[in-house]
Amino acid sequence: MKEVEGRYHRQELLEGWNQEKLNQSTVLLAGVGALGSMVAVSLALMGVGKIILVDMDTIELSNLNRQLLFTEKDIGEFKAKVAAEKLREMNPNIYIVDRNESLISVPHKYYEESDVIVDGLDTFEARRWLNSVSVSLNKPLVHGGMYGWYGNIQVIIPTVTPCLECQPLLPRERFQKSCTPPGKKREKVEQPTFPGISTISAVLSGIQAQETLKILLNLSPLIDNYLFYDGLSQCFTTIKLERNPKCIICSDKYRLEGIEYAIDKQETIKELKDRLIATLGLVEPIRVVHKTRFIEEDIKVEDMGLSSGELLFVYDKSLGKPLKLRAKIS
Ligand SMILES: [Zn+2]
Repeated sequence: MKEVEGRYHRQELLEGWNQEKLNQSTVLLAGVGALGSMVAVSLALMGVGKIILVDMDTIELSNLNRQLLFTEKDIGEFKAKVAAEKLREMNPNIYIVDRNESLISVPHKYYEESDVIVDGLDTFEARRWLNSVSVSLNKPLVHGGMYGWYGNIQVIIPTVTPCLECQPLLPRERFQKSCTPPGKKREKVEQPTFPGISTISAVLSGIQAQETLKILLNLSPLIDNYLFYDGLSQCFTTIKLERNPKCIICSDKYRLEGIEYAIDKQETIKELKDRLIATLGLVEPIRVVHKTRFIEEDIKVEDMGLSSGELLFVYDKSLGKPLKLRAKIS
């Protein structure tokens, strides 16, 4: 009589496979939309032991053309909750956590315990925050983005390959203005409508899941760390991005010493903040701290006792860690 093959039998035939390793792995999916939900399906079916789903959005009719885990009866429900229910049915042997909340409000332990973080987000601002957290915790990040017929993947191995901040290829203006800050409840404000189609998300989410799998199994990484997909010409283009030695998130110099920033002693903290918004894309509310002291906006630099070479810490909501500025006063 033919022996019954186990759930994972066919994948265990692959060279380099390590089911035990997968069973013990944890992956956090930031965003459970077109990309995140499909990455989640792949990881769940392969038996990744713990999957953490984070999304504060609810399911809408317009999601159903490409978000394959959801049906009309799910409209109005949280994406993470419904996705978790479906995934538990698909594979009852794994553990799924669903967090129906923003990235910032999710307990930090979930980021810390993850082996890989997957970016299935739709705004640059939320991505920027996630990227800074991934780098600060030294967690690999598998970024995926789509726009209509096109998509891109970037694999970020902190301090080894460039992070999203090193060379932001995404058109910031378009993504930054558009969406909800990661810490805020999504309000019913005018949302821009991006084109999206299930075939492109199927290709991209498949590659994202594959890259996640390869990191978990320690298999050959994406050699050129950035991949662009054109769904019309069916072209895959890979580019080897270089790390930016001045990156304010991942460069060794920055992490050790802080970024050198020219500051006029006549300017006020408010003026400094405005320049930080203009030059580094920081987002209000911004707090400036010198020697553990919070500095009010109307104080002039020359009156706060700051000397050249000293550190200022700048807290804003776009980054997961405070920005470290080394004052160069003129
Ligand atoms: Zn970087």
